[in-house]
Formats: sequence, C-alpha cells, structure tokens
Amino acid sequence: MQALLSVSDKAGIVDLAQALHALGVRLISTGGTAKLLAEQGLPVTEVAEVTGFPEMLDGRVKTLHPKVHGGLLARRDVPEHVAALKQHGIDTIDILVVNLYPFEQTVGQAGCTLEDAIENIDIGGPAMVRSAAKNWKDVAVLTDASQYGQVLAELRADGKIAEKTRFALAVAAFNRISNYDAAISDYLSSLQPEGGRTLFPGQANGRFVKLQDLRYGENPHQQAAFYRDLHPAPGSLVMAQQLQGKELSYNNIADADAAWECVKSFDAPACVIVKHANPCGVAVGKGALEAYGKAFQTDPTSAFGGIIAFNRTVDEAAAQSVAKQFVEVLMAPEFTPEALAIFQAKANVRVLKIALPPGGPTDWDQGRNAMDVKRVGSGLLMQTADNRELALADLKVVTKKQPTPDELQDLLFAWKVAKYVKSNAIVFCKGGMTMGVGAGQMSRLDSARIASIKAEHAKLSLQGTVVASDAFFPFRDGLDVVVDAGATCVIQPGGSMRDAEVIAAADERGVAMVFSGVRHFRH
Ligand code: 5GP
Repeated sequence: MQALLSVSDKAGIVDLAQALHALGVRLISTGGTAKLLAEQGLPVTEVAEVTGFPEMLDGRVKTLHPKVHGGLLARRDVPEHVAALKQHGIDTIDILVVNLYPFEQTVGQAGCTLEDAIENIDIGGPAMVRSAAKNWKDVAVLTDASQYGQVLAELRADGKIAEKTRFALAVAAFNRISNYDAAISDYLSSLQPEGGRTLFPGQANGRFVKLQDLRYGENPHQQAAFYRDLHPAPGSLVMAQQLQGKELSYNNIADADAAWECVKSFDAPACVIVKHANPCGVAVGKGALEAYGKAFQTDPTSAFGGIIAFNRTVDEAAAQSVAKQFVEVLMAPEFTPEALAIFQAKANVRVLKIALPPGGPTDWDQGRNAMDVKRVGSGLLMQTADNRELALADLKVVTKKQPTPDELQDLLFAWKVAKYVKSNAIVFCKGGMTMGVGAGQMSRLDSARIASIKAEHAKLSLQGTVVASDAFFPFRDGLDVVVDAGATCVIQPGGSMRDAEVIAAADERGVAMVFSGVRHFRH
C-alpha cells in the first residue's frame, strides 16, 4: 500500500506517517512535508523522484503529473486501467493525505495583498483531492487531521479502510474543496467594484454573511441570527448603521425592513409607521415633521411602540414630535445633531441611519437582492421581488365618473401603500395620508370593514377618501362596504370574473374606479 502525504498544516502528520510506516505503508511526499518526515527518520520518497520532474514554478507545479494522478484515478477492478499503469510504470496511491494552502487564513489577515492571496490558491492539492475522492472505491482521501485517528484504527484492526469510511471521506473532501473554491470566489469578487456586480450582475453566488446572533427569534424560545447577502445592495436595511439604542431584535429587524422598503418607495418626504410588519400609518408631507404628524394620526393607538421610517433628514422639530411617543426603532437617511441629542435622552430607542438607494425610489438594485425567498417545509420558494411601479399613464378608468386630479394623486399614493400591507389589503387615503388600513384578513370584506373601524377609532372621516385594494374585488360587496364608509374613488387591479358587476356597482353608487392591471399580494 502506498500513501501520498502533502500538507500545508503539518499538525499530526508525523504521527500519522509513523503509524502508516509501522503498518507497512510506503510514503511519498512533496518537498516541505517530505523534509519534515525525513527529519523524523522516516523513509519517504519525494514526489519529484516519482514523477521524474522537479517541483517547479515556486511550487505551483509539484504533483500535477500522470504518475500521481494515474496512481490516484486508476480503477483497480478494470484490467485496462491496471495494464495502463503497468505499461507506464505507475504505482497506485491508496491513501491521500492533503490539506490545502491556507487561503482562508491568508485573506483573513490584515494587510493581505492580492498577490499573497493568489499565491495561496492551491492548485495541485485540490486536483489530487478530486482525483482521490472520485476514485473513493479504491482510495481513501484524508483532508483534515481529525480524520487520521479513525483511518489508522481501521487499518490497524482490519488492514484496510472500510468502504463506508472511504465514501464518507470522499464526501468530506468534496465539501472541503467546494468551500475552498467558494472562499476564493468570494474574496476575488469582493475586490471588484461594488462587489463584482457591475460587470456580471446576474452572477450572484447566493451566499450570506452572518452579521450577528440575535437574542432570540420571533419568540423567546426560538434561536436566531441576522445574515446579509455577500454583496448587499446600497439602500437596503442590512447597510443600516445603528447610532444608539438597545440591540435590534428579530421582530425589530423584520418590521424595520417593512418600514424602510415602504418609505424608500416615495419621492416626496414620507413617514411610515409599522407594527407587526404592517404599515399602521403612512403619509407624505412638506417635510419629516408634517409627514410624521399625518402618519401618526392614522392610528395613534397602534403607533405606540412602532417602527418609524423617514426618507428625509429628521430634524429637531420632527424628533421632538416623535419623542413624545414610545418608539421602538427610528430610521432615516440622516439626523441633525439636534435631533440626535433629543434621542440621546431616550437611550433605549434604536436609531438607525440608512442611505437611500443611490438611484432613487425606483432603483431596484439592478437585479441585486432581487430574489424574494420564503422557507417552506424542507424547501424554499423563490421569486423575483415585487418591484412593479405604477405610473399615472398605467391607470385605466373603468367607470362613468372620472377621478379628480387630487384623487388620482391619492390613488397612486394609496396603491403604493397597499403594496406593503399584508393581504387582503384595503387602504383608505386622502391628502397624501392613510386614513384607514385593513391588513392581513382572510376576507377582503373584513379588511374593508376593519379599515373603516380603525378610521372611526382614530376619529377620522372617510368621506371623500380614495381606496386601494391590493387584489380585485371578487364581488360587489367589498366595494359597497368602502363606498358606504365614504370612499368616492377606488383603485384595484381588475381581472375578476365579475368585473362587469363591480363596475356597474361603482357606476350605480356614483364613484370613480380605476384598474391598475397589477396585483400586489403580500403574504
Ligand atoms: P509541501 O509543504 O509538502 O511542500 O507542500 C504541501 C502543499 O502543497 C499542500 O497544501 C498541497 O495541497 C500543495 N500541493 C501539492 N501539489 C501541488 C501542486 O502541484 N501545485 C500546487 N500549487 N500546490 C500543490
């Protein structure tokens, strides 16, 4: 039996080699490893002697030779393979012990240059590991010192390594080189501008980087951690900088994301207040202060302990207004020093500073982070993000009554908000402000009822409001509920079997209705 030993991390290699030698295994080895073993008095043949070629090019070429790969890859049960080895004077290699150049450690060190990194990309090592792992039926491949003990125990007990063990070693070997290659690809792409996305935007490698462990998950008995994409998009939540406050919780992060995604979709100064992943108040205004005041009015009860996001600088006046209530998380692209001073007195409030997407509200990251993922039992659902924007020109008026210009503005506003409300979503709006939000009900009718009940609680009148429905009205009853509540104009996707019935109902009630042609389910 013959073993080839070629390791960068030499821990445990002398003991292993001595034990193999004692078991009658012949040893071949590369320069550094061979030197170490010879120093310990072990009989070892240098690979250069086996191949008849010196190690060359600073070690770039050591074992890349048919005498090595033939000995690893030949099938011992195929006579032609055995004959070929004989013809070319190649001995089989039955045990391969390799660990790779320390690429991960090298690039993890401060001051690592590209040149250092490149020199630490192992070529011959992974090639041998692949050859041996492919031929696992005949070869045992050891890629980690933790495997030495069991292999030796089997050799001592049975004079051979069990098939099961060889297969498990091959699996571990392929895992190791796939992680190794991933580390190389991650490092090199991190050197490209914007993480390598400018040249080949489609080539997201789908890996994640752990940002932090979280105290717990959605509930205290669940463990959780926060990960980000390897190459996060500018303007996304993971880029936030926490300026003060308690550690973010799992639910804080989920809600903050909902608030941030919603607020950044507006051009005008906007404020979004989120509770349990749903906006409970959204408004646009002349500035942060006005937007907040309006958003808060929608549902002051729910806004208690809310997650509040702005798409404009939070100044002293806005901060003073926000600080009157209990706030969990506050987010904005910028805070004035006066605003920050106000929150310093409220040490628990988590204040996050996040840059807006460089391309504005419709900058959907040019395909980056564009996948939406949802875990289902032992699988996952993937879809592109719901990034459809609606313009005035996309609206199709289907009723006799036309919306007024003000109503059209509010329709677009309501539609934007409805996209971020869990289905079934019914959103009443007026004057760039939500007046009633019905979220997450199993029936659209109930969402409509809840939205108007909430307006009543907030003492808001729904007379003359517009309504957005995230999906079509399957029957006229939902429309009747919102018109009874005071709505005079409705936006919905259309596309129901009963569109004609619903349009006729809108005409009968004397309201305007607009089809968006787009649905925004959000589950
Ligand atoms: P040694 O310290 O024995 O001189 O080198 C051991 C290291 O060389 C191991 O990490 C092994 O993976 C690597 N190695 C073996 N053959 C080759 C080769 O042909 N090219 C390169 N670049 N590395 C090799």
